[in-house]
Amino acid sequence: MDIVNDQTCFWINDLSKKISTNKVINSQECEWLIIGAGYTGLSAARKLGHLHPNSNIILVDAQLAGEGASSRNSGYLVDSTLNDGFTSNKELDNYKKKTDIYKLGIDSVKKFIKEYQVDCDWNECGKYFASSKVEDQKTLEKFSTTLNKLGFENNLLSNKELKRRLGTNFYNVALRTKGGILLHPGKLVRAMIDTLPVNVNLYENSLLLEWKKKNDAVICKFKNGTIKTKKIIFATNGFLKSLGIKSNYNFPITLTASMTRCLSDEEFISLGEPKEWGVLPVRPMGATIRMTKDRRILIRNTAEVFNPYQMSKSELTKRSLKQKIGIKKRFPELPDDIIQSTWSGIVSRTRNSSQIFEKIDNNIFVAGCYNGSGIGVGTLFGEQIAVKASNENTKELKVIEARNKPTWLPPDPILSLGVRARLFYERFRAKSEI
Ligand SMILES: Cc1cc2nc3c(=O)[nH]c(=O)nc-3n(C[C@H](O)[C@H](O)[C@H](O)COP(=O)(O)OP(=O)(O)OC[C@H]3O[C@@H](n4cnc5c(N)ncnc54)[C@H](O)[C@@H]3O)c2cc1C
Repeated sequence: MDIVNDQTCFWINDLSKKISTNKVINSQECEWLIIGAGYTGLSAARKLGHLHPNSNIILVDAQLAGEGASSRNSGYLVDSTLNDGFTSNKELDNYKKKTDIYKLGIDSVKKFIKEYQVDCDWNECGKYFASSKVEDQKTLEKFSTTLNKLGFENNLLSNKELKRRLGTNFYNVALRTKGGILLHPGKLVRAMIDTLPVNVNLYENSLLLEWKKKNDAVICKFKNGTIKTKKIIFATNGFLKSLGIKSNYNFPITLTASMTRCLSDEEFISLGEPKEWGVLPVRPMGATIRMTKDRRILIRNTAEVFNPYQMSKSELTKRSLKQKIGIKKRFPELPDDIIQSTWSGIVSRTRNSSQIFEKIDNNIFVAGCYNGSGIGVGTLFGEQIAVKASNENTKELKVIEARNKPTWLPPDPILSLGVRARLFYERFRAKSEI
């Protein structure tokens, strides 16, 4: 695996450029090593820094910190999900366990941004689960009953109201949940980097090539050096499998998104000047689409098994075309050439869409696999895996440990074939919603 900074992502390009970074060189030793500097790894490092102010903590990333999926997502901090993975949540108890975790995730992010006065375009505007298919109303009514039982405020909306709020005639039915926050994912993760405790040493552009346990330590090999650590936390999410971690419980999926330029005054007026909004699909492979506060449209309508990890420019262009069609279907009045950037990102999935949060050996810990909820849950799981690895206890840990555990996956090629077939089927079911 080779990760290169591709500079395609709008959210990253919207930030000031980083000017200096350190790489892993020579041989080093530390008490704590964290691999992966996204929301999970950065939150783990922050927590460890506070719990062990006198310890030497090292955080390493293969690319620039924060520039993996944590900067490349759609920016929905969710309190509830309809399609997290391939199945809907039918059982109330299990669904409650999930939303309890989402709530703690939101609390963790809120606490972080309050404590450090972070500006990440936070907007508590709720979200819409929307469809162009009138028959999806049944699904939404069932979902509404579940949400009502758990005390989540929500209401069903039809075409006319949706047109007024979203500026598109495309959707015929939607369930709006009051909970749910929209934010700038790049600004959030950059703030996590900028506020790392002083006893955390960050090394970037340093790919972990190999790791092995030796007596009570873990030895990690990088291109230009090695790190020997007493304890290690793997926070590499979509890359867990490639490091041989929980390989039969997770697999990577590549998502692609596009962002338009800012709409002109005239274009924005033609849509009815909608306020910032975020739509999630009712059918799993439908488009996530968002109007940002600076009048851009973001769309994500692909999810696929894609290897190698880096998508070439020509591959991105193909996805961009699909996204152009997705935008055109919803906003036929807008010009064809308004997409400004297209990027891909890697996430990790489990079979039953449950998260990985585990001690896999005495001194080896892992957290990841959040499907579409990594902003909040990644932040929470990062902090709490640090707590667990420090042999401390919190009420959050109890909630996390009570979740359903990920279920076993068959090895390749059966796995890849199965996932591809499932994605194909879901894509077919959602073809009107892409
Ligand atoms: C297009 C897209 C849209 C999404 N939309 C949403 C959304 O709206 N809301 C939401 O909550 N979630 C969303 N997600 C998912 C969310 O982004 C992830 O769940 C979240 O970023 C996971 O954070 P993480 O820190 O665990 O992993 P990552 O951010 O992926 O960080 C892992 C890091 O590990 C590093 N790494 C990997 N292998 C190695 C190695 N061998 N050596 C060193 N470092 C390594 C990587 O470079 C990476 O920086 C979306 C994701 C994508 C791609």
